[in-house]
Amino acid sequence: MRDVELYRQLLRIEAPWEVQQVKLSVSEQRVDVMVGHAKGVRWRCPECGAELSCFDHAEQRAWRHLDSCGFLTWLHARPPRVCCPAHGVRQVLLPWAEPHARFTALFERLAIDVLKETDITGACKILHISWDEGWHLMERAVARGMARKERRVPGLMGVDEKAAAKGQRYLTLVCDLESATVEYIADERKQASLDGYFEALTEAERAQIKAVAMDMWEPYVNSVCAYLPDPEEKIVFDRFHIMKHMVESVDTVRKREHRALSAEGLDLLAGSKYLWLYSQENLPERHKERFAALKATNLKTGRAWAIKESLRALWHYRRLGWARRFYKRWYFWATHSRLTPVIDVARMINRHLQGVLNYFATAPITNAAAEGLNSKIQTIKKMAYGYRNREHFKTAIFFHCGGLQLYPASTSTHGNPG
Ligand SMILES: [Zn+2]
Repeated sequence: MRDVELYRQLLRIEAPWEVQQVKLSVSEQRVDVMVGHAKGVRWRCPECGAELSCFDHAEQRAWRHLDSCGFLTWLHARPPRVCCPAHGVRQVLLPWAEPHARFTALFERLAIDVLKETDITGACKILHISWDEGWHLMERAVARGMARKERRVPGLMGVDEKAAAKGQRYLTLVCDLESATVEYIADERKQASLDGYFEALTEAERAQIKAVAMDMWEPYVNSVCAYLPDPEEKIVFDRFHIMKHMVESVDTVRKREHRALSAEGLDLLAGSKYLWLYSQENLPERHKERFAALKATNLKTGRAWAIKESLRALWHYRRLGWARRFYKRWYFWATHSRLTPVIDVARMINRHLQGVLNYFATAPITNAAAEGLNSKIQTIKKMAYGYRNREHFKTAIFFHCGGLQLYPASTSTHGNPG
C-alpha cells in the first residue's frame, strides 16, 4: 500500500478530498500530509447549503492530527471558498476539523479524553501541545457543550460558593442536584450573583424549581425570596452546609484550647486538627486509639466534637415531628455547652430553623450530589494548585462538572451540516 493510500484510509479522507503527498521527516520525527481535491467539484455554502462552484482558496493551513507511531502528524490543505449569492464569500466546511480549529476533530477527541483524566500541565506534556493550546482546547470544548445543552431547569437546585484560591474572591455556583452537574457560575457571592441565574429564566421555568439547597447566607436567601414563589417552603439549609459550620466551630474550640494548654506546657492537642474533623464513621483505623484516648480526657474540644457528631442524627429522622423533638434537645445541649463557637453556630441554625426542617417536608435532598461535586471541584483546584485566573477556573469546572457533550461533531463538506 502506498503511503498516500495508507494516510487516505487512516485519516478517513473521502472524495472529493484526496491525499496528495505524504512527507516523512525522521530527524524531526514528524509526518506532513498534504490534502487536496479534484478540479470541478461543487461545494456547499456553509450557511445555506447552496451548491456552488469553487470561488477561490483560502491560505494554506495546518491541523495537528493524531500521532503516527509517535511522530507528530500534521494535515495541510487550502480550504476552498464559495461565493454564495445570499451569504457572500465563505469558506466551506472541512470534514476533518471544525471551523477555526487548529486540530483535527479526531485529535480534539483524544485531547478531551486526556484532559478529563489529568491536569492541564500533564495533558499538554502527553499531547505535545502548549499550555495555551491546552486551554484553548478546553474552552472550545466547553463552548461547544454549552451551545448543545438543552434548556432545562433543575427541580432540585443547589447553590454554593467557591474560592478559586486561598484569599481569593468567591464564585457562586448553581448546581442541578439530580444530575449532579454545575449549571451556572457567577462572580462574587452577592445577591446579584444568584439573581443573574433567575433572571435568565422565565416565570414558568422558575416555578419548576421545587427546592433550593444552600448555606445560611442572607444574600442567597434574599435572591430566592425575590424570584421564586413560596420561597419559605423551598429553601433548604442542607446537612452539607450546616455540618461545615459545625466542623469549623469544633476547629475554633480546638485552636483556643490548644493555645491555652500550650501556655501551661501541655501539648495534648498538638497535631490533632484532622482527627476532630472526621465524622465518627470515617475516622481512619490508624487514628482510632489516639482519638479514643483524647476523647477520654474530658477536653472542651471533645465536648464540641460530640455535639457536632450528634447533630448528624437529625437527618436520620423521617418525620418532621420526631426531627423537631430531637432538635430541641440538641439545641439545649449545644447552647448550654459554654463553648462560644458552638453556641454561635447553634443560634445561627435556630434563626434558620424553618429552612433546616424543610428538609423533612420538601422533595428529598440527599447530600451525595453536593458532596460529590464539592470533592470534584477541590480536585480541580488542587490540579492547578489554585487558579489565579478565575476564568480558567470556571472553564475547568464546566469542563469536568458541567455534564456537557464536549466532543467535536464530525462535519461534512457535502450535504447540510445538521
Ligand atoms: Zn449561502
